[in-house]
Amino acid sequence: MAQIGTQLGRVVERKRAEDQLIHDAFHDPLTGLPNRALFADRLARAVARSHRHRGLVFAALFIDLDRFKLVNDSLGHLAGDTLIIQVAARLGACPREDDTLARMGGDEFTILLDSIADVNDAVRIAERLMRALEQPFLIEGEQLYVSASIGIAASSLGYESAEEILRHADLAMYRAKTLGKGRYEIYDHTMHERAVSRLALETSLRRALQKGEFVLHYQPIVTLESEEIVGVEALVRWRKSESELVYPIDFIEVAEDTGMILFLGMWVLREACTTMARWHKEFPRTPALTVSVNVSARQFAQHDFVQQVAKVLSDTGIRPETVRLEITESVTMVDSERTVAVLTQLRERGVRISIDDFGTGYSSLGYLHRFPLDILKIDRSFVSQLDRGEEGLQMVQTIMSLARNLGIEVVAEGTESPSHVAHLKSMGCDVGQGYFFSKPLESADLSALLEGGD
Ligand code: C2E
Ligand code: MG
Ligand code: MG
Repeated sequence: MAQIGTQLGRVVERKRAEDQLIHDAFHDPLTGLPNRALFADRLARAVARSHRHRGLVFAALFIDLDRFKLVNDSLGHLAGDTLIIQVAARLGACPREDDTLARMGGDEFTILLDSIADVNDAVRIAERLMRALEQPFLIEGEQLYVSASIGIAASSLGYESAEEILRHADLAMYRAKTLGKGRYEIYDHTMHERAVSRLALETSLRRALQKGEFVLHYQPIVTLESEEIVGVEALVRWRKSESELVYPIDFIEVAEDTGMILFLGMWVLREACTTMARWHKEFPRTPALTVSVNVSARQFAQHDFVQQVAKVLSDTGIRPETVRLEITESVTMVDSERTVAVLTQLRERGVRISIDDFGTGYSSLGYLHRFPLDILKIDRSFVSQLDRGEEGLQMVQTIMSLARNLGIEVVAEGTESPSHVAHLKSMGCDVGQGYFFSKPLESADLSALLEGGD
């Protein structure tokens, strides 16, 4: 009898261990919520059910905390975990009993709203979720404010699989982030189209890089006094086909997001230096022509950026003092100590540093002196205001006197008319770039211009 009792005890124990294993396989260890696998299963059932009963509507919500990485990075992973547990508890209070709240991993949660009247029910839940997060969280004695971006996909659009509806909720969440975070978006087909065309662009950009379809155009930079060419700015274009030229506005952002800019940017620098080294031989001048090359923040952030630039300089044999790297204010904003160090090292290699689109960033004019800069390019939005009254004049005037004090050369971008030229000259600006002098030109056309002695 005692033996039977022990055996029974073992069976019960084994059953309990099995149950535990099954539970663990389908639950998130940190929050105890259903995990991705269990959620996918319930979602798949909901999809199947809605096929059987056409009238049934359900919705998937994809929730992603905003700036969670900041919490993790600044307060540590333990604090991050505590926050996730507290967020899970608040989110858990919102849906109804039949609904499933799951943790997908990291700071991502999903909710399956099993049976709703229409998408408005899902919107009401999303609003409730956002309200639930409004009160601050208390983490390690600190008050933290957290918001979430929420994507909603409702079954009324007709879904074939759990994976598809979840992907759409995710896309809508991504859209909510893009539109400013701390909000919800409902999936619609334009989001799908946008994602598809963006993906197609990524793919064709990669191919363009392999096939060598990028070309540089060169825009003359001239003295305002005599319109003599003193340098050029290299501007990248994508020669998509014989008849189709694509401008940076349509691909630079994607190239930056995907990291392709690292390769593209270095190609631009190499190509521009190679071409300018040739022009120096063919059209010697004193002082030598300069070449300006745009550098994106992502390139600048690479740990070996200085070495990469140095290699291009030595490979192409260009005179470093003729090379001007154009960076924008956003580059200087990230980590100013590192920025100063990198700029100093670049200048030690002989290149000049130009600050591009000046005046459009967030920084005050006063921060300029902190950085070792040689050239400042006044953004064309200011130049275009020059003949529209006092305000534009004053801004350019301020920039000019600041630059003069710091011993920085000024180039006026977007000089489009004789009156721009007259205003700029009267304020002591000597050098300009813009359609009034020339549009960006193919290298052969720029050669011809230099040959003609401009
Ligand atoms: P950016 O560096 O400020 O370049 C000046 C832009 O203004 C060029 O546009 C040029 O064609 C345009 N522009 C010049 N003169 C005038 C004018 O008088 N009026 C007007 N309305 N526009 C004028 P583009 O070539 O379309 O380039 C746009 C931006 O794309 C550049 O602005 C730069 O930020 C970026 N970009 C271009 N090439 C590269 C590159 O090789 N690498 C990186 N990272 N960015 C690049
Ligand atoms: Mg530029
Ligand atoms: Mg510019």
